[in-house]
Amino acid sequence: MSENKIPYKIYLSEDEMPKAWYNLRADMKNKPAPLLNPATHQPMTRQELDGVFCDELVQQELDNTTPYFEIPREIRDFYKMYRPSPLVRAYCLEEALDTPAKIYYKFEGNNTSGSHKLNSAIAQAYYAKNQGLKGVTTETGAGQWGTALAMACGYLGLDCKVYMVKCSYEQKPFRREVMRVYGASVTPSPSNTTAVGRKILEKDPNTTGSLGCAISEAVEAATSTPGYRYVLGSVLNQVMLHQSIIGLESKIALDKYGVKPDIIIGCAGGGSNLGGLIAPFMGEKLRGEADYRIIAVEPASCPSFTRGTFAYDFCDTGMVCPLAKMYTLGSGFIPSANHAGGLRYHGMSPVLSQLYHDGLMEATSVKQTDVFDAAERFARVEGILPAPESSHAIKVAIDEALRCKETGEEKTILFGLTGTGYFDLYAYEAFHDGKMSDYIPTDEEIARSLSQLPQVD
Ligand SMILES: *Cc1c(COP(=O)(O)O)cnc(C)c1O
Repeated sequence: MSENKIPYKIYLSEDEMPKAWYNLRADMKNKPAPLLNPATHQPMTRQELDGVFCDELVQQELDNTTPYFEIPREIRDFYKMYRPSPLVRAYCLEEALDTPAKIYYKFEGNNTSGSHKLNSAIAQAYYAKNQGLKGVTTETGAGQWGTALAMACGYLGLDCKVYMVKCSYEQKPFRREVMRVYGASVTPSPSNTTAVGRKILEKDPNTTGSLGCAISEAVEAATSTPGYRYVLGSVLNQVMLHQSIIGLESKIALDKYGVKPDIIIGCAGGGSNLGGLIAPFMGEKLRGEADYRIIAVEPASCPSFTRGTFAYDFCDTGMVCPLAKMYTLGSGFIPSANHAGGLRYHGMSPVLSQLYHDGLMEATSVKQTDVFDAAERFARVEGILPAPESSHAIKVAIDEALRCKETGEEKTILFGLTGTGYFDLYAYEAFHDGKMSDYIPTDEEIARSLSQLPQVD
């Protein structure tokens, strides 16, 4: 089909929307390593996980062989409120960059929570409700996951307790208020409402908190309250499964026009949006049907892939969660207060970690001020105000497009635009006022944190 037939936005009809999630693990030769019990270092059994997570989600978590999971009708109906999300051909950005590259982005910010996280939030809340639970607990960093979960729980009438990383709680009061609109209760973490929170506060009363610490609190709150389970917005296999909707929709839309991306780019915090975006493409790559260059982009201040180690580690600071084998900076790593809250996690999805370890994808890290520079360049021509997290992908997409300009190559680039930045205007303000720093951890800092890794043989 000829070039000028491709519209600015490729929408799918409701009938074209995927009816099943794709489980990339089914096509992986080297499966992600199992979660281990933190006390015994034995693989977590289904029964052990059932105490923390909803039953159906445990099943999804442990299933490395079933390629497709049907999306329940109720979840598909909820998806229809804000999906399919648009796949945008960035004609204006291409023109501004004067590049022969063809740039597409999948925009996940078209819902009130403002990010892709709602795709998994509704799934997790649905299974909790189906199991007859009273409520769920979780942590949130920047607030996107908490907001998404609050929306999903509000819709289904489930109770929702959110532990919000303290610095975000203070920096982002409006996020907190949106969560309360949807009926969630929001507690700054670390808090004195849990034993693990009190312990962390005792050690460091001035801590600004971290995701790992908020996770510990949320897990404790769930396991000590009858009728509650813990849910998590990233990292886990089940989350990546739900997020495959992003890649599946992208692939259907591109296939319609006979377009095949050469390079696929996404920001990586815990790896869920990137894992979801690349899922069907990586599936083809694993089955030897096609090849793609895949790039994970992380902040230089929290460089799990590019400077971390592939090892078993705690998923949380309090060391109550199972151990996961992943690229990690150490569970005690607290990144500098950079403004991409969604990318401040010390670890990475075990699935993406394995793929990266096997050389099936690349990773790069970028500096905060360069990210905001790219964000504004993008905003001015494409209109959308991007989230700082998403802007990591924008930065590298622009770099790749400019490389094409130098070489004259007409590469097709697809990147994930995970969300909007309306709640990140303090970050934009710091950027405009020249007050944004580019703190990069030293090798010593990282080594110190990695020296605390659990010894697993
Ligand atoms: C949470 C978040 C991310 C990072 O999380 P992943 O699990 O790595 O996808 C990226 N962008 C936005 C807008 C987010 O809210």
